[in-house]
Amino acid sequence: MTTAVVVGAGPNGLAAAALLAREGLEVTVLEAAEEIGGGTRSFEAILPGLLHDHCSAIHPMAVTSPALRSLGLERHGLRWRQPEIDCVHPLDDGTAGVLFRSVAETATGLGVDGARYRALVEPSVRRWDMLAPDVMGPLLRIPAHPLPLARFGLPTVLPASALARLFRTPQARALWAGVAAHSFRPLSDPFSSAIGLGILTAGHAAGWAVAEGGSHSIARGMAAVLAEHGGAIHTGVRITDRRQLPPADVTLLDLDPGQVARLYGDRLPARVSAAYRRFRRGPGAFKLDLAVEGGVPWTDERARRAGTVHLGGPLAEVAFTEKEVTEGRMPERPFVLVGQQYLADPARSVGDVHPVWTYAHVPYGYEGDATESILRQLERFAPGVRERIVGRHLTRPADFAAANPNFAGGDILTGAKTVPQLLLGARPALDPYATSLPGVFLCSAATPPGPGAHGMCGAGAAASALRHLGARASWQGGRPASRRGTARPPWPAPRESRT
Ligand SMILES: Cc1cc2nc3c(=O)[nH]c(=O)nc-3n(C[C@H](O)[C@H](O)[C@H](O)COP(=O)(O)OP(=O)(O)OC[C@H]3O[C@@H](n4cnc5c(N)ncnc54)[C@H](O)[C@@H]3O)c2cc1C
Repeated sequence: MTTAVVVGAGPNGLAAAALLAREGLEVTVLEAAEEIGGGTRSFEAILPGLLHDHCSAIHPMAVTSPALRSLGLERHGLRWRQPEIDCVHPLDDGTAGVLFRSVAETATGLGVDGARYRALVEPSVRRWDMLAPDVMGPLLRIPAHPLPLARFGLPTVLPASALARLFRTPQARALWAGVAAHSFRPLSDPFSSAIGLGILTAGHAAGWAVAEGGSHSIARGMAAVLAEHGGAIHTGVRITDRRQLPPADVTLLDLDPGQVARLYGDRLPARVSAAYRRFRRGPGAFKLDLAVEGGVPWTDERARRAGTVHLGGPLAEVAFTEKEVTEGRMPERPFVLVGQQYLADPARSVGDVHPVWTYAHVPYGYEGDATESILRQLERFAPGVRERIVGRHLTRPADFAAANPNFAGGDILTGAKTVPQLLLGARPALDPYATSLPGVFLCSAATPPGPGAHGMCGAGAAASALRHLGARASWQGGRPASRRGTARPPWPAPRESRT
């Protein structure tokens, strides 16, 4: 039987594993942590029964991901739940930019900017199902739908601050700045509109959804598909030396490029090894999970109904803070993202105590304590929130890094979204998943289309692996891979095995 080994059980590793197993390969996944999921896990951080997401929380890209859709995770219990309002960006004067699932409702709320907003996003929203495989795939290939892709892609080239000039109201500009800030880049950078436009378009198409029962339901769904096709997952197995890996026809690495350089540096061509070692990191995240009695008392009533709230003030302030963190300085008022997943998924709360997920953008490797900065940003738009906090849990950049080297320095995007890394991934190559070693592929969020719990980096790498085996991915219209070879597990008896 053709064999595959996948290192890392994040959403990309699991997507690659499940897709390859479904093609008939014998797949083994090796995961360092005791639990699968990587950035797609959930935990009772503060109180029993109060469910927080470790990392990924809001999933416009995952809901529309062709890979996740093709795996049919709903059969394995994944249910997407939608907040009443997708995102609110409050301002100090008590007004806010408000993002609804519906383009029309959002446009109406944006007043004089409504028509321009609509013109910017609506054509691509209507075609998103058709566009998603092109947008969420590698850049250097012939797209299936070149004209709609060009229509979507043209404004992505612009710096987010330039695109903001489309809008006249501070509310529309701030709303756009907050969404664009998901790229952790200065808003004056070329292509700093790309991630924001992707999130907006996918969000209008499918909602800023949360996974019922916590984001770990996404990982568990993929693990169930893998098990259905005979795959195995071994947790508690950290790969630090490639001799730990069992022989396999293909090996897929859900790792940051630095780890790949350490594992394979002596075998990789010098230029590839150098590119992986030079891979640039982005700013970090400082996370503060809160248990809040009665929920956050937002001044803006719509924020009390929103799954996501962006705290960064007006466009100019968001632009300033994003530049500061990129250049290694901690701003006094950092950009803060707040997740209120419990509004769409009430079973995550315990009585009237609710899990509130927040994180601030901070410099790479920031060693200070951003708790007060986050609380001040919350108080700014929700006076009295401190009195309602009954518990808290911190995850500092060093904690992210210790738990998962892919998030070194708290860089939760697995790499700075500089223009070359955003467009091409870890190195310029026709196949961004190929490491140049036959049969060895990179499948983490360091590859296109980049961060998110959408599994599309894994799907892209799995398709490359199948091509290497002389097969074509069935989700791209091919037939199952031929069966050959055997794998034998050379690592010491795993502490735990879950399939
Ligand atoms: C605070 C935070 C908030 C986020 N919010 C969102 C959000 O709302 N929506 C969204 O879509 N995305 C969000 N993300 C991003 C998303 O979680 C990541 O982009 C995604 O998890 C990347 O998936 P991956 O499979 O590439 O890698 P990871 O999720 O990093 O998984 C890699 C896995 O490999 C394992 N591993 C690493 N090294 C080794 C080794 N040497 N040997 C064995 N195993 C190893 C790790 O333990 C981990 O399980 C967020 C991330 C964070 C941290």
